[in-house]
Amino acid sequence: MRWSKTLLATLREDPKDAEIVSHKLMMRSGLLVKLSGGLYSYSPLGVRVLHKVEKIVREEMDRAGASEVLFTALQPIELWEESGRAGLMGKSMFRLKDRNDQTMVLGPTHEEVATDYLRTLASSYRQLPATVYQIQTKFRDEIRPRFGLMRCKEFVMKDAYSFDLTSEEADVSYKKMYDAYLRIFARCGLDAHPVEADTGSIGGSHSHEFMVLAPSGEDGILFCPSCRYAANQERAERRAPPCDWSSPSADPRAKVATPGAHTVDEAAAALGIPSDQVVKSLVYLADGKPVMVLLRGNADLCEPKLRRRLGCAELEMADPETTAKVAGPFGSIGPIGVGIPVYADVALKEARDVAVGAGEDGFHVVHCNLMDDADVKIASWDDLATVVAGDLCPHCGKPLALERGIEVGHVFKLGLKYTASMGFKVLDAAGKSVTPVMGCYGIGVSRTVQAIAEQNNDKDGIVWPASVSPCQVALLQLDGRNEAVKSAVDSLEAALEAAGIDVLVDDRDERPGIKFKDADLIGCTVRATIGARSLEKGGVEVRLRRTGETELVPLADAPAKIAGMLAAQAK
Ligand code: ATP
Ligand code: MG
Repeated sequence: MRWSKTLLATLREDPKDAEIVSHKLMMRSGLLVKLSGGLYSYSPLGVRVLHKVEKIVREEMDRAGASEVLFTALQPIELWEESGRAGLMGKSMFRLKDRNDQTMVLGPTHEEVATDYLRTLASSYRQLPATVYQIQTKFRDEIRPRFGLMRCKEFVMKDAYSFDLTSEEADVSYKKMYDAYLRIFARCGLDAHPVEADTGSIGGSHSHEFMVLAPSGEDGILFCPSCRYAANQERAERRAPPCDWSSPSADPRAKVATPGAHTVDEAAAALGIPSDQVVKSLVYLADGKPVMVLLRGNADLCEPKLRRRLGCAELEMADPETTAKVAGPFGSIGPIGVGIPVYADVALKEARDVAVGAGEDGFHVVHCNLMDDADVKIASWDDLATVVAGDLCPHCGKPLALERGIEVGHVFKLGLKYTASMGFKVLDAAGKSVTPVMGCYGIGVSRTVQAIAEQNNDKDGIVWPASVSPCQVALLQLDGRNEAVKSAVDSLEAALEAAGIDVLVDDRDERPGIKFKDADLIGCTVRATIGARSLEKGGVEVRLRRTGETELVPLADAPAKIAGMLAAQAK
């Protein structure tokens, strides 16, 4: 590959809208070209990285026994109505009409299509287990597309779907994909951790996300350094902290003026008690119906947990008017005597002496007993709080640590959700009709490309692992008018390509300094430089991008030397 024929353009400055290092570097190195918000074109170098990651994914999917298919991106809405998800997807699904006024969607994911594919082809237990996968463009109308390839409106995903006769067999299929994911991310040079995850709108019984740790990651992950428990903050559990007010107060329940106290901390200060002992009351609309949530004053609601508990599609905090009508004004919301269901966090269980909003501006009620007061009706006690650093591990009780991560993959055991709603059945060995158990498995292929850059860079640019480097070698031709240099470059390029090593030859008429800077920015694993000076000194200067280790080798030895350096990097 010759730079002079490739229309590559590196940028000196970071683009204004790029907030995280990988986005800046992908743009500056000319791997991506922005079309508009959440839409990026890949340059010849960018597409090479994408294809290399795809190749790794394909090899490992094939090795795990999955069969490659290719579904259509365009899907009839009827499939989504059959599965019951048409409404659930909300505005994140692109919808359009064909010329006959039929509603179509641009696939954000393919559970429905995969289930339809299997029910068309399979009717007997002999055809199962079956796992199909594809690598395809997905479309999602994200609320906030950002961070380059991390969150796009159009992106490349590998999605796989498994179908098994029994739940136990489905666990085997799940494990195969889980193990394949570990191999894929390791081969991409990524340090990715599986963590327990929320099942979101896809539904299902259990799931893991594969997280690349990075401070810029959008997900919070709780880790237990002691027992290795790891979970996404959207679902992480904690051991409930001890309750210091489990005995009723000797003093009677009383309404107290707390003028100007609108936050938990202000109320706690006004009442002279710890903020933990003030109940945080929130009103939410679950599919339009108001519900109240109670938490300890210093805890925050984890909305995905509440959504799961209620099984609702839409969940939003109620507006001030609705809240005032059902539970009192903001700042003084409380559970006493309200006519809406009240869900309390388990950390409030046994709370017999707490302060709550009085439902009246400027007042709180002290010595409220959530367990026994007749006019406080708790619908259920659930794990609803967001787990934070320092909370106790649900398994071993040690303090948890919080890190940030980028979700590059996700595996779900779906159970019967789609196969049952879409009527997919096969006959088992006894001739009985059974509904297969399904799993689904996604990898954000394009997000993975950028996650690799996020985890592999230094002050000068990207440092691509050898397995996914846009070209394994950047061959810099200095003094391009010098015939000896030109012929040495030609011969090294040919020798490397013959050995199956891809090369980007920088044959531009540019100053050496610019070529060195751009080579560092793009970050090919090995840099080889040939100029009049290097030839005089005896040959080719080879340099490992990751360590800067440089060596001068005779031209004839360079291909073997470079192959050895790449092989050592792959380990
Ligand atoms: P997120 O929580 O980041 O929105 P998700 O849970 O919606 O992701 P899945 O439906 O599990 O994602 O999709 C599988 C994979 O596709 C994700 O693990 C992620 O790597 C990738 N992915 C999801 N949404 C996007 C997007 N908008 N742009 C790029 N990659 C994405
Ligand atoms: Mg996910």
